[in-house]
Amino acid sequence: MKYISTRGEAPALAFDEAMLAGLAPDGGLYIPERWPRLSADKIASFKDLSYAEIAFRAMTPFIGDAIPAADFAAMVEAVYGADNGIFAHPEVTPLVPLGDNEWLLELFHGPTLAFKDISLQLIGRLFDHVLARRSGRVTIIGATSGDTGSAAIEACRDRDNLDIFMLHPKGRVSEVQRRQMTTVMAANVHNIAIEGTFDDCQALLKAAFGDTGFRNEMQLSAVNSINWARVMAQIVYYFTAAAALGAPRKSIAFSVPSGNFGNVFAGYVARRMGLPISRLVVATNSNDILARFFESGRYETAGVTPTVSPSMDIQVSSNFERLLYDLYDRDGTMVSRLLDELAADGGFTVDDARLAGSRALFTGYRLDDPATEATIAAVHRDFGMTIDPHTAIGVAAGRARRPDASTPMIALGCAHPAKFPDVVARATGTAPELPPRLADLLDRPEAYQVLPNDLAAVQDFMRRKATVKVEGMAAS
Ligand SMILES: *Cc1c(COP(=O)(O)O)cnc(C)c1O
Repeated sequence: MKYISTRGEAPALAFDEAMLAGLAPDGGLYIPERWPRLSADKIASFKDLSYAEIAFRAMTPFIGDAIPAADFAAMVEAVYGADNGIFAHPEVTPLVPLGDNEWLLELFHGPTLAFKDISLQLIGRLFDHVLARRSGRVTIIGATSGDTGSAAIEACRDRDNLDIFMLHPKGRVSEVQRRQMTTVMAANVHNIAIEGTFDDCQALLKAAFGDTGFRNEMQLSAVNSINWARVMAQIVYYFTAAAALGAPRKSIAFSVPSGNFGNVFAGYVARRMGLPISRLVVATNSNDILARFFESGRYETAGVTPTVSPSMDIQVSSNFERLLYDLYDRDGTMVSRLLDELAADGGFTVDDARLAGSRALFTGYRLDDPATEATIAAVHRDFGMTIDPHTAIGVAAGRARRPDASTPMIALGCAHPAKFPDVVARATGTAPELPPRLADLLDRPEAYQVLPNDLAAVQDFMRRKATVKVEGMAAS
């Protein structure tokens, strides 16, 4: 399988090369050259398989011959095997009943309690494996305002062939979020608290990548949400959940709390692979660029409003470009033109036929903060279950946009409620407790370096701290 760019101007790459590159050199996103299909019989057989077995079967077509099958199987088993303890639940992503033919797919049993662990835990190993085979090494750098940083750190800790440097704005992330990053004691993990805002951190990141000499010297790389490997790993749980409820005999609907459009795009890919998904509800908070698009066909930025579901506080949804590429029959020139228009005018509009095409599967729904809190309270009252604000948006949107009562509706549970204790306590009257493996988080020692908002200071620190010295990386 080869990967091509959504802007149509970059050479096709194998899986491992596309993963290491992240973004394509023409500014586009990598996407498989075609969508592989799984037969109905194969999907039906998933009902009796473990998460790890389904993961191997669903992802293998995307890997091609870039990684030997036995090696890939071993990595998948190490991450998702029921006895390996990376996920706190033996089923990895348990499906629990909510209301009538309504389900919650719990994606938050990983080490940092959010669904990003499911893909990042695999990607840490994939990077390490691919780099070892090339005798290469990379320096991962990221900026975080909360969730993503800890998931990336947990995924990269103790890997042989990489270092990770994570920038967070000093004093501007919650204590739980900071401690999830700074209590990881591993020689290749380096937390940096920048004296500035999250925007300052992002600007430093961009400047570090923009310094070509530094970028090459350190072999900079990123594991952000546009990386194809992340989308790929998220396809799996659509299969496990749908097969458990009777697919492919029955069709299934999903409701997906959405920000960068990565998680819900994985559902789209599952459908292209043959999983009978009859509806994908794109659930947003007040930052509703996606919900507005599926209503009107106009994709238009509108600034960012802080909400109680901060992981969905986005201005543009970077992975949306991948859907656009398919909507425009894989015409990269057209995608480039629309994104130029977005950059120049703040928006673009697709024609009625393409809007209708997208609405055959997708529908949007938006929830504001009061409605989010009311949903947390209602689910607690009606089912005795405590859910986090992102998950609540998915549940409410699924109810509002349900195709019919006979189609199972699965809402994706994206984070553990203990990650967002304030809003959950306000809605339910009880502060949610951290699960046992993180119960002593507030007592663990922390390590991080405070640095000024200054590129040279960050670069100097990175040069001194990287345990991995780059000496002529094999061509990539
Ligand atoms: C990242 C995140 C989201 C948004 O997912 P996308 O793939 O960016 O659409 C939603 N909820 C939580 C808890 C997240 O961490």
